[in-house]
Amino acid sequence: MTFDEITGHKREKDILLRAISRRHIAHAYLFDGPEGIGKRLVATSFIRTLLCTQGTGCGHCPSCLKIDHNNHPDIHYLLAEGAALKVDQVRELQQVLSLRPLEGDYKICLVDGAEHFTVGAANALLKTLEEPQQGTIIILITSQPETLLTTIRSRCQKLTFRPLPKQQIAKVLTQKLDLNNSDAMILAALSEGSFKKALGKNQELFLEKRRKLIQSLSALSAGSIIPTFAFADELDSEKELLPDIIDIFQTFYRDILLLRHGCSEDDLVNIDLLDILHSQSQFFSTPSLMTKLKALESTRFHLQRNVNCRLALEVMLMRITNA
Ligand SMILES: [Zn+2]
Repeated sequence: MTFDEITGHKREKDILLRAISRRHIAHAYLFDGPEGIGKRLVATSFIRTLLCTQGTGCGHCPSCLKIDHNNHPDIHYLLAEGAALKVDQVRELQQVLSLRPLEGDYKICLVDGAEHFTVGAANALLKTLEEPQQGTIIILITSQPETLLTTIRSRCQKLTFRPLPKQQIAKVLTQKLDLNNSDAMILAALSEGSFKKALGKNQELFLEKRRKLIQSLSALSAGSIIPTFAFADELDSEKELLPDIIDIFQTFYRDILLLRHGCSEDDLVNIDLLDILHSQSQFFSTPSLMTKLKALESTRFHLQRNVNCRLALEVMLMRITNA
């Protein structure tokens, strides 16, 4: 993928393109920002542009093709994928970087998941960063930059990636998932600026089922014990989805809160349920909505600690309906 084909991150792409055009490449970069928003994609495109024989990341030259097939001899990948990055792996990286480039001017190491370095590995890496060799580039990618040694961070040029605006994600979702604009905007809003989340989301839950869940929730009232218990039963049967369902309920009350405070409908998540949102915003005061949101948050907290799920849901729904 070329820089042009990557959605968003204009500032970061411009900085990297300028560095390439001026041949002023840092020895080490730190790409930080939330997961799933395209940091690795930008890093790979940067490397491709840097090594491309056309200088564009053309996608057709031998260098680009090797990068796309993960077999370019001058690139070393260190991918944590949830596991610890150990000192042996850093030693291997050092070994690779100590050799002259085989095809271009650079030897490049891409580390994805830099927060997974063990203490020993981080110290070994620090040594490499302190004594950079001509033509070597290390790119560290992380969603938790605060876990890295300060001394590592200070030796890298830092590029902070921000979550993508929901309009940008929605545009891609309409193409990739064949969604209508309204559904794409909802999925984008629920993904908090991350493509990974948006594309991985359970579409059925976040679109069709979300509508039903919110309709059921908003139909409950303070005195209606039997429907409340029946709804608790229904939710209890979907245990593995509960964290996402709580997210959905939170977006609902947050939307009502935003409407009450005069925010634009563009800022809402549940844009397909405007009728319900507007009618509920007449009923509930800000303190009442805050109490409902707190009830949801405390239920999330308790469910993570293996309390009696059914009981926690009953308490949650009663607190919500009584607030
Ligand atoms: Zn190329």
